[in-house]
Amino acid sequence: MTLEQTLPICIAGTWRLGAGERYASCYPATGEPVAWLNAASLDDVEAAVQGAHHAFVHSGWAQRKPHERAAVLYRIAELIRQRAEELAQLQRQDNGKPINETRALVASAAGTFQFFAAACETLEETITPSRGDFLSMSVYEPMGVVAAITPWNSPIASEAQKVAPALAGGNAVVIKPAEITPLLALQLAQICEDAGLPKGLISVLPGKGSLLGDALTRHPLVKRVSFTGGTRTGKHIAHIAADKMMPVSLELGGKSPTIVLDDADLDHAVAGVLYGIFSSSGEACIAGSRLFVARALYEPFMTRLSAAAAQLRVGDPADERTQMGPLISAAHRESVERYVALGLAEGGHLRLGGERLSGGMFDQGYFYPPTILEGLGNHQQVCQEEIFGPVLVALPFDSEEQLIEQANDSLYALAAGIWSRDYKRAWALGRKLQAGTVWINTYKQFSISTPFGGWRDSGLGREKGRLGILQYMEQKSLYWGMNQQPLAWAGVEAGQ
Ligand code: NAD
Repeated sequence: MTLEQTLPICIAGTWRLGAGERYASCYPATGEPVAWLNAASLDDVEAAVQGAHHAFVHSGWAQRKPHERAAVLYRIAELIRQRAEELAQLQRQDNGKPINETRALVASAAGTFQFFAAACETLEETITPSRGDFLSMSVYEPMGVVAAITPWNSPIASEAQKVAPALAGGNAVVIKPAEITPLLALQLAQICEDAGLPKGLISVLPGKGSLLGDALTRHPLVKRVSFTGGTRTGKHIAHIAADKMMPVSLELGGKSPTIVLDDADLDHAVAGVLYGIFSSSGEACIAGSRLFVARALYEPFMTRLSAAAAQLRVGDPADERTQMGPLISAAHRESVERYVALGLAEGGHLRLGGERLSGGMFDQGYFYPPTILEGLGNHQQVCQEEIFGPVLVALPFDSEEQLIEQANDSLYALAAGIWSRDYKRAWALGRKLQAGTVWINTYKQFSISTPFGGWRDSGLGREKGRLGILQYMEQKSLYWGMNQQPLAWAGVEAGQ
């Protein structure tokens, strides 16, 4: 396949050109095209959903025993691992993340399939305590066609978190990847087919979310949407879902507080705060983007933090030493720059960064340096809105009461970090913070076996965890009559 050729997309088991507009996936480090493809059209959405429904009804996937479905999922994990380096390099080009990070995302995707394979074959249904002459059971059934709508910041890992439990649960999946990062979802579909997943059970529809994602969400045959992306889009999907009475899970934005108490181990805190905000160039829903530091420590801590941030290696994503690659697009970098300008207009000042880098690759790609804003109040816009870039706002605090009030004063409630040597104090604070995940003396660490999700504007529902499969299944209760006599009410005697 040469660069000029147009990539086929996967529609209900058929690999063909999309019927929408031709466009390129571009390498954010250079702006150069990596691959050309045609977006899906609305007719392609229809074909993908009808094909998925047909495969769900006729392929026998839903009826396979859990250990049989698990065998295919294990094989998918294996194939991802076999092709790990190729996938990581492709993802680096598709979204510009440093190679070490894309390797970790690919490994995470393989781990997710392995985990849900194991969860699938060990999932138990229950016999519930009976209150009469019957046996009562709680069982789970597949839903049908599931839509997986994903953002551009962690392709393959995000898709795996939806596709693996959905397939484990016996469903068909239509993936709508972010328009600008379609390549890894297409690779994943190919791997699923290579692993023996019946054709039609997986489709990938690259293109505009407002057109394709919307149509997919509204489609009557789509029985569940699992969405990761921005809060505004998530609320739009929630409205459609309400009209259809359709379950959704929404993994949305964040503005997570990361807190350095006056007894923190400063080496750990500096390293953790840096990693929390600047890894992935801040393009992470869980980025620790609001830093609260005990006032007594504030100046010495900020001096150390900014000196260390200034040393971070921003540059070529192909270089294994690179810690921060470019931002996803020119438009996104402009949005980050507008936020920095807004912070300054709101009365803040720059401790570090705030200006584009120049020379070599920096003149071509969408790079932006680690940036720290100070002198702002938590109520101000840059402290309240998700910037989704390498911009940290730092605020000193005087008391824990004030800290808790401010940390929780956000529409978002996705994650939080605490740095303290005192575990009892950190425990008490951790319980008071409103967030789906609280990290204590660490940050941005994940286990597929631990549920993940947000409160309030950060989302609805949870992904991951053994029981994550049940999000993609309908619960059903079964009652088996065990009585020797007919039900008493009708007055019918046995044998009459
Ligand atoms: P986005 O909301 O613009 O797009 C996400 C996906 O939704 C894309 O595939 C897009 O094409 C699709 N989409 C857009 N409009 C749609 C519509 N009307 N109907 C259906 N689908 C539609 O988000 P983005 O810019 O791609 O990603 C960045 C956002 O994702 C950030 O806010 C970030 O915090 C969030 N995010 C959240 C998590 C989490 O787990 N909580 C993880 C990663 C990213």
